[in-house]
Amino acid sequence: MDVTLEHRFADELPEMAIPWAAEQTPDPRLLVLDEDVAAELGVDPSRLTVGLLTGTEVPEGAKPVAQAYAGHQFGGYSPRLGDGRALLLGEINGRDLHLKGSGRTPFARGGDGLAGIGPMLREFIVSKGMHALGIPTTRSLAVVATGRKVLREQPQPGAVLARVAASHLRVGSFQFARATGDAELLRRLADHAIDRHYPALKGDYLGFYDAVVDAQASLIAKWMLVGFVHGVMNTDNMTISGETIDYGPCAFMEAVDPAAVFSSIDTGGRYAFGNQPGIAQWNLARLAEALLPLLHEDEEQAIPLAVASLERFAPRFDAAWTVGMRDKLGLAEDPPAELTTELAELLRAGKIDYTTFFRTLSEAARGNAGLTRALFDDPAAFDAWLPRWQSLSPDAERMDRVNPIYIPRNHLVEEALAAAVDDDLDPLHRLVDAISDPFHERRGLARYAEPAPGDFGPYRTFC
Ligand code: AMP
Ligand code: MG
Ligand code: MG
Repeated sequence: MDVTLEHRFADELPEMAIPWAAEQTPDPRLLVLDEDVAAELGVDPSRLTVGLLTGTEVPEGAKPVAQAYAGHQFGGYSPRLGDGRALLLGEINGRDLHLKGSGRTPFARGGDGLAGIGPMLREFIVSKGMHALGIPTTRSLAVVATGRKVLREQPQPGAVLARVAASHLRVGSFQFARATGDAELLRRLADHAIDRHYPALKGDYLGFYDAVVDAQASLIAKWMLVGFVHGVMNTDNMTISGETIDYGPCAFMEAVDPAAVFSSIDTGGRYAFGNQPGIAQWNLARLAEALLPLLHEDEEQAIPLAVASLERFAPRFDAAWTVGMRDKLGLAEDPPAELTTELAELLRAGKIDYTTFFRTLSEAARGNAGLTRALFDDPAAFDAWLPRWQSLSPDAERMDRVNPIYIPRNHLVEEALAAAVDDDLDPLHRLVDAISDPFHERRGLARYAEPAPGDFGPYRTFC
């Protein structure tokens, strides 16, 4: 086996890395493998054996570890979370190869250490769609069925997801290091993170913090522009790299609604669609608290520095969102604020399908507003908005390059998962094929462009 796994994290941060091995799998079977991701790693797919992809046969010299981290979950602090059912196998070409569902670790607490094929395939599908939409994300290399049953709401077949990421450093990693009280560990973690993600900022911890604020402002704007609801934006699920991570209870909003929540466990709506920028900022405040000792030798004096940086989150988010909205509307300049505010309101009031609205709107730029207009039961507000937008000479071609036609819609994902549980992977492959090229309309894919049928009902997701 000539896949070489580096072990920088394990070597540089041993206090945060517990050497561990994956559990054996009774009857492993490869379900899906993304050859694009293998190519990005520079690994020949034939080298990716099920043994490697489940962590049960690791290359010589590898040092798989469970990573320690802390985190605020739904606002409450847990000092010791960590990889309860996951392992960092190592790094390839500077990217992490990580497994999820590989068995209990010392961080498992009451958990079984396992994952079901439904959630692992959901992550495979949605991360593929996010990447195709141009949104920074961890990638899914493969899902292997283990042959073991896992007990969830419904018993289901177990699986291991092999995930590739710029790193698995999270806000919670810094919270963990800070809470140890070991200032030298915190500095080593920051140096490691800077070296991997922001190498130009070597030794500049405030610059590093600012870069994370910037990366997250840009990321959350991208989510909002496609209607993505992450669902569980705990601080342990927010990366330092700026990649989307942990597709648990995520979903795409159809009918526009800032209060949209899909996760069965988010009963308070903390992570609702419209709350995401505010929550990201809250999480970044927790990162600032963790970094304070590095920002100034006198922590009192570090606070205003961190606050000034954190205060740039909102203007950066707004700028990124406005540029994105300008492109979605096909405009050469930033749209006037009233135009986008009114648009948001009329989409919300009409419960309009977000993706369909923007995709059909390019036809309105070409002079045929009928398709878009038909989305409204009462088109009066749209009719008033339309000519003001049209007077700005929107460019239909540009709109079609940024407004997707095919996204991993919730009902399509569920359909693919249900079939996969019954051993039929065809719906999954067809869906992945559609969403892998989200901006080009293709023959025979009309059903992948449509919102959920009325009988799909309210959507609930589970971790
Ligand atoms: P998540 O909400 O998936 O990001 O997970 C939060 C924490 O719970 C992490 O520390 C996970 O490792 C842990 N965890 C989640 N599911 C399990 C499980 N089935 N067994 C052990 N640990 C788990
Ligand atoms: Mg070695
Ligand atoms: Mg997580």
